[in-house]
Amino acid sequence: MTLDEARTLDAADPLRAFRDRFHIPEGLIYLDGNSLGALPIATAARQQEVVASEWGTSLIRSWNEHGWIEAPQRIGARIAPLIGAKPHEVIVADSVTVNIFKLLTAAAALAPERKTILSEAGNFHTDLHVASGAADLLGMELRIAERTELNAAIGPDTNLLLLTHVHYKAGFRFDMAEVTARAKAAGATTLWDLSHSVGAVPLHLNRDGAELAVGCGYKYLNGGPGAPAFLYVAEHLQERLRPALRGWMGHAAPFAFTDDYEPAPGVSRFLAGTPPMLSLLALESGVQSFDGADMDAVWAKSIALFDLFARLAEGSCPELDCISPRDPERRGSHISFRHPHAFEICQALIAADVIGDFRAPDVIRFGLTPLYLGYEDIVQAVERMADILDSGRWREPRFAVRGKVT
Ligand SMILES: *Cc1c(COP(=O)(O)O)cnc(C)c1O
Repeated sequence: MTLDEARTLDAADPLRAFRDRFHIPEGLIYLDGNSLGALPIATAARQQEVVASEWGTSLIRSWNEHGWIEAPQRIGARIAPLIGAKPHEVIVADSVTVNIFKLLTAAAALAPERKTILSEAGNFHTDLHVASGAADLLGMELRIAERTELNAAIGPDTNLLLLTHVHYKAGFRFDMAEVTARAKAAGATTLWDLSHSVGAVPLHLNRDGAELAVGCGYKYLNGGPGAPAFLYVAEHLQERLRPALRGWMGHAAPFAFTDDYEPAPGVSRFLAGTPPMLSLLALESGVQSFDGADMDAVWAKSIALFDLFARLAEGSCPELDCISPRDPERRGSHISFRHPHAFEICQALIAADVIGDFRAPDVIRFGLTPLYLGYEDIVQAVERMADILDSGRWREPRFAVRGKVT
């Protein structure tokens, strides 16, 4: 595909106008929106308003007058249609890590005689770490199985199955309906991590029988660095779960200041402490950047961007080994390649104004965010990558220097 052809496709793209909702630095090709989403233009103005007018002027009255106290539920309800859930099944709080802990420790009590938490080898490490801590605390065992052995590993002792829907590295996607049903038939509850799915791939949590889920606010949802995360509890489970991490914001009557604990009705019981309002409202702006976007169109464009990237890279960067599944039904919205010098290539690309990211030990990963990427971006990115590989420029010593964050 030539640049002109790409520009013609961009001009006809039904999502083209969404790009104008984002601040994308001039000349930069940003292929890392699955690590840190781009800044929505509306966020800066909204943050200024919140600081000057709400915090600055209304001060503590803002909890009531500007709807701060309802923000976790309100933003949860905005996320709900993106994941195929009911508005009262989703709440925004804490980080993904903390939310996994909250849901695992509460849900384990649904089947106290079952002592195993099962997860996948190579799952995102925070998920495994927090599951091991929860297992220790609860006198349970964390069992980690290879993907191909997961089905066989679900047994009479499995209490909880903790899985990431779209894998952060290669992008493999589970069949949520099938896996959830299989676990359920064996008596286990499944907790899905949607961090690399929400805002990118089609999600139908209710239709697919999902019971518990968590997801990230700072990736495809564009909520800003360290944005709060969300959690989902299916309606039928909400009154049966009693959080272990009990905070006043999850109490039935936080402002009664009573000594006894009574959980708030529904998913609100999973709030713990006071929500970080600036971050929460930045997340709201991020989620609003999806307003009016047809999620089927978002996914259709992700498929087209992926196919274009894969085809161009195959032709002009043959030394890169694409490790993401080609079948759209089996993957997320990023494309990953393996190369022994993935780190250096990634650094050389950044120096050429193409931002992707490196995942240890040898993977280079590109996030495809349909709201603000065009076909021209993909053509240019692959051209620059081919140039870096052909010229061997990535061998310059400065590209081997590793920062704290890689
Ligand atoms: C990004 C990501 C997280 C992030 O967790 P935080 O606690 O919010 O930093 C967790 N799990 C997966 C699978 C992720 O991709």
